[in-house]
Amino acid sequence: MSDQSLHPDTVAVHSGRGDLTDLGVHALPIDLSTTNPLPDVERGGDSYEAMATGGRPPTDGSMVYARLWNPTVGRFEEALAEMEHAEASVAFSSGMAAMTAVILAMTSATGQRHVVAVRPLYGGTDHLLGSGLLGTETTFCHASEVGVSIRPDTGLVVMETPANPTLELVDIAAVIRAAGDVPVVVDNTFATPILQNPLDHGAAMSLHSATKYLGGHGDVIAGVVACNEETAEALRRVRAITGGVLHPLGAYLLHRGLTTLPVRMARQQENAQALVQWLIDQPGVDEVFFPGLDGDPDGILERQMHGTGAMIAIRMRGGYAAASAVAGSVKLFTHAVSLGGVDSLIQHPAALTHRPVPADARPDADVLRLSVGLEHVGDLIADLAQAFATVVDSEEAARAAVS
Ligand code: PLP
Repeated sequence: MSDQSLHPDTVAVHSGRGDLTDLGVHALPIDLSTTNPLPDVERGGDSYEAMATGGRPPTDGSMVYARLWNPTVGRFEEALAEMEHAEASVAFSSGMAAMTAVILAMTSATGQRHVVAVRPLYGGTDHLLGSGLLGTETTFCHASEVGVSIRPDTGLVVMETPANPTLELVDIAAVIRAAGDVPVVVDNTFATPILQNPLDHGAAMSLHSATKYLGGHGDVIAGVVACNEETAEALRRVRAITGGVLHPLGAYLLHRGLTTLPVRMARQQENAQALVQWLIDQPGVDEVFFPGLDGDPDGILERQMHGTGAMIAIRMRGGYAAASAVAGSVKLFTHAVSLGGVDSLIQHPAALTHRPVPADARPDADVLRLSVGLEHVGDLIADLAQAFATVVDSEEAARAAVS
């Protein structure tokens, strides 16, 4: 459980390291063992039983097998839990593996097979729920419709805020009130634990694609869910059975990444805010989507976030042609999916991250999503300016060809 007397910047640097002094080390150790010695058959068997049902390794027992427990992963989980003001967290091999485990643990494992999903959601999550592949039935709805969408067999409410890709803010406390006793999972990937702690607003689970800001360097695929210990047991049981476990090398990189998360987030956010001010004056940009840009009329930003984050979406005046031209013309931004790393990325959600979403719920074709990194903002502006200029040039060429 977190020590709330420490500032989040301090927690980020020191959490999950309680056993290092006893081990006689200063940097995080990496344990790559796939199997572990057993003290004797009885205690080995008891340890297996404890972890296969979602528990922790007994102190006089063994970790048995790395699909059940790994100390490097365990340290990262402890750190993330502390940052999310949670009792525990459970790490997975990807954000989608984490979402799969949440759905299985809350629906198939409980017999409550109906899910309420608040759109917009990340395309992969929307696809997973819409496919029914996990034996669930999903009602997709707007945040204001959660109450009427809940049924006696609803086992889970899924929401995301800020939402991907339009940066729409969803009121976590309002969704939780509407959900009643049904557990709510909040995808907290865009905000990170630095800007938003969904459990403080009553959420049962805060889920991250740790691939994004938590890792922060574009070199780890991972997911993690912060929750109470009882829910963690249910998730660890699913993880042990289905095998979506995080590799210790990934856990090491994530744990190391957490230490710089507050400063990365602060600087990336500063860059994004400056970029937004420039973007709103660009004639080629019809609309800029960014938390708080409309003045926070419902007070959600003020109530549940500690900042705006560093994700931006823009609607290009020239439609799909302009959006695809800009994505194809950037030189410093990388035209690539994913987000949250130290370098800036740009991508077309309708064609890529949200392609599996049904057409009527898919982002518009004139929208681009930007993940703002740590480069100097002047260089980022210069890059977008030259990419926008290519659109103007090609529009002028097209007009000349017609006339
Ligand atoms: N949630 C959000 C908001 C995402 O953007 C993503 C991936 O882009 C995911 C979940 C899935 O995470 P992963 O790609 O690590 O499986």
